[in-house]
Amino acid sequence: MKHIYIHFPYCLYKCHYCDFNSHARKPGELKDETKLFLSALQKDWQQQFSDCLDFDHALAGESVQTIFFGGGTPSLMKGEHIKIILDFIRADVVFSDNIEITLEANPGTLSAENLQSFKQAGVNRLSMGVQSFSDQNLQRFGRIHTGEEAVAAIELAKKYGPKELSIDLIFGFPDQSLASWESDLQQALKFKLKHLSCYQLTAEAGTKYTQDLRQGVWQDPDQEVMNQMQDLTISLLNQNEFHRYEISNYAKPGYESRHNLAYWHFESYLGLGPGAWGQMRRSDAKLKSFQLLRRVLIKDPLSYQKAVGSGNFWREENIPEDTALGECLMMGLRLSDGIELSVLQKMFPNACGEDFEVAKQQAIAKGWLSQKAGRLCPTEEGLRWNNQLAALFL
Ligand code: SF4
Repeated sequence: MKHIYIHFPYCLYKCHYCDFNSHARKPGELKDETKLFLSALQKDWQQQFSDCLDFDHALAGESVQTIFFGGGTPSLMKGEHIKIILDFIRADVVFSDNIEITLEANPGTLSAENLQSFKQAGVNRLSMGVQSFSDQNLQRFGRIHTGEEAVAAIELAKKYGPKELSIDLIFGFPDQSLASWESDLQQALKFKLKHLSCYQLTAEAGTKYTQDLRQGVWQDPDQEVMNQMQDLTISLLNQNEFHRYEISNYAKPGYESRHNLAYWHFESYLGLGPGAWGQMRRSDAKLKSFQLLRRVLIKDPLSYQKAVGSGNFWREENIPEDTALGECLMMGLRLSDGIELSVLQKMFPNACGEDFEVAKQQAIAKGWLSQKAGRLCPTEEGLRWNNQLAALFL
């Protein structure tokens, strides 16, 4: 299995816009919770790895190329916890020599000591959720750190942390001006990083932010200003030699997130931990066979821990080939490089038929898609209207 995602479900505080499977815990509660999490995670791995062997021996035998610790706030774990996890995985599979091991981090949880311990444990890429350098924005959305603390955390991470560092920023806070977003971008550029993620704030169901919008605490952000922010991001980062390789992700050549590329390329991956998703695919172009098994684990951390020993801690679905093709296009057309047609035809030996051709021609006619050198690539407009583009294939 080339790609593994591990979900650590705890945070110190629930950010107001967050709809991830994250649960606020006091620092004093984390020690015991983390212990229980580690023990459950090991059983989770053993069960799912054994299932993967049953599904496709070749898939299970592949060397691991990427591991991603997401959450939640996995930087609340210690380096020794990360090492325990990597050791039990490595007991069953081979790690590739150039494996990418990413840890998501909250700037409010970092110190020289834990950064060094993550690095020693084997983490070689840190993805830091900075979101903004403006205290006003950070406070409005319940972040646990200030702008100054974010700057200090980035400097510490560059000095003591894993080799690669990426930061996440969010734009489109209500009342945020274009100048304030430019200031966040300019501040981020000062650190001479190789990877930046710039997400547009969205109002997700069930979040405090969405509730506040409904109750009139905030006005909906102005879509015209949001578009200007997106355009500014693209041009400013291009001027600084970042290429936009995915709708919200920018990198210097060779520094793209390999783990996230695996999702956008619709590869197989195992998802471990509460609420994690995984998928296993096997297709044979000659035999015209296809199978995609999607698995979603129990979300609630306590229920997950209780169920994990019983072998019944997920919901599983066989995804029909035409549905999977639509999903694959939805993911792949987020990438500037798009999708190679021959890869698509190998992955989906029966589904790239008439319906697919009709949708493709419609997307080309709308100016959202181009076909060149055997690839289907979204145009600038296609990236802007990605949801509508993807909908043509679903
Ligand atoms: S730190 Fe991240 S995962 Fe945790 S609540 Fe905030 S946005 Fe969600």
